[in-house]
Amino acid sequence: MRIGVFGGTFDPIHIGHLVSAEEARVELNLERVVFVPAGLPPHKLDHVVSPVEHRLAMVELAIASNPHFVVSRIDIDRPGPCYTVDTIELLKDEWGDEVEIYFILGSDSLLEILTWHDPRRLVRLCYFAVVSRPGYQVDLDELDALLPGVASRVRMLDAPELAISSTDIQRRVREGLSIKYQVPEPVEGYIHRHKLYHLTLPTS
Ligand code: ATP
Repeated sequence: MRIGVFGGTFDPIHIGHLVSAEEARVELNLERVVFVPAGLPPHKLDHVVSPVEHRLAMVELAIASNPHFVVSRIDIDRPGPCYTVDTIELLKDEWGDEVEIYFILGSDSLLEILTWHDPRRLVRLCYFAVVSRPGYQVDLDELDALLPGVASRVRMLDAPELAISSTDIQRRVREGLSIKYQVPEPVEGYIHRHKLYHLTLPTS
């Protein structure tokens, strides 16, 4: 059995994430996709990240209409920072060896894999379902020379490239621009209701 794992800060979750997850599910015949919001993302320690309960609530709203999508609190309930390799190992222990894990990520993230904690161990533990992001071209031969074995673990997906990012959505909200259709409608409502990314403080 194959299960997709989609880690992210999801601040907020947007259409680029959802299209990627659905494409991975269909192309790779995944039994389900597990969204894993980061508690305290190790690579974003220098950023202000929205409270995890807000990010989790938005993921729940965004995936509610897809019976194949679920969310896990594994990186929220564990003291952080949580490294992907440890999360995947914990999930592998829970699901057993017969499950193949496909870690879903954008090409920008794959290009940074060498900066992650213990990438060699990660390559041994899972496959990578990679979605191209505009402006981030991956040269698999080059990457494989630096991280042997990674190329055989990568599945490049045929998802449409969407130049949508959480940072840009935050900026748009701050500047009073529309985010309609960039995030699912319930997520848009949640952002405005709780004044996330506005210049005033968010509500709890
Ligand atoms: P930021 O704008 O703050 O960098 P983000 O939009 O990349 O945020 P994250 O939650 O950090 O959102 O991303 C989680 C994962 O989703 C990463 O692997 C990232 O590469 C991938 N991803 C995000 N947006 C897209 C997109 N538009 N297309 C494909 N993959 C994406």
